[in-house]
Amino acid sequence: MKLLLFDIDGTLILTGGAATRAVNRAFNKIYRIDNAMDGIRPEGNTDPAILREIFHKRIGGDLLADELNIVFNEYVLFLREEVANSHGYTIMPGIKNLIQALSKRKDVLLGIATGNIEEGAHIKLERAGLNSYFKFGGFGSDSEDREELIRIAIERGKKLLNQDKRVDEKVFVIGDTPLDIIHGRAAGARTVAVATGSYSVSDLEKYEPYFLFENFLDFEGVLKIF
Ligand SMILES: [Mg+2]
Repeated sequence: MKLLLFDIDGTLILTGGAATRAVNRAFNKIYRIDNAMDGIRPEGNTDPAILREIFHKRIGGDLLADELNIVFNEYVLFLREEVANSHGYTIMPGIKNLIQALSKRKDVLLGIATGNIEEGAHIKLERAGLNSYFKFGGFGSDSEDREELIRIAIERGKKLLNQDKRVDEKVFVIGDTPLDIIHGRAAGARTVAVATGSYSVSDLEKYEPYFLFENFLDFEGVLKIF
């Protein structure tokens, strides 16, 4: 049995800037700060880490847990609206075919490993009709640390499988950034990198992923590695 853990942004979909706009609107509403995301690189980082970085840069000091939740509550409301209206929202090449084919396999369980908070992850996947394929996950709301949230996802996947009495799992982490590769490997997974986000094939190969693809258009070829 194999556990496949997919990253979201740049791997399954791109929101076309919806998440950035939602963060900006949340910071504007709560702190009266414009363009809070300017100069922040979110790729591969977790949502709580990103919000803390913004707070530290723009306001100074640490964003406390209660305040973080207030920002997230506003973020989620704006994200719903921004994703629904985003002209640049894209499903990455080959993903629909790949996920549909994988979901039919009896030896594969599909999950999510993302820095997005769980509610944000579901909002982002909903527009693509992808939520129902993923039975479990690890999220930015579970841990601010990517390796830790991948470990949490693996534990949840194993729990689901143990109920079916099928153990002996191989784990794959599929993502578009060096951080997916680094933390996936640290969590004991085989890493699959795809250059559909902000990093090219040559950027990603420096981190020595187990497999590396330009994109998943040839989904039948990709299926063979699992
Ligand atoms: Mg990503």
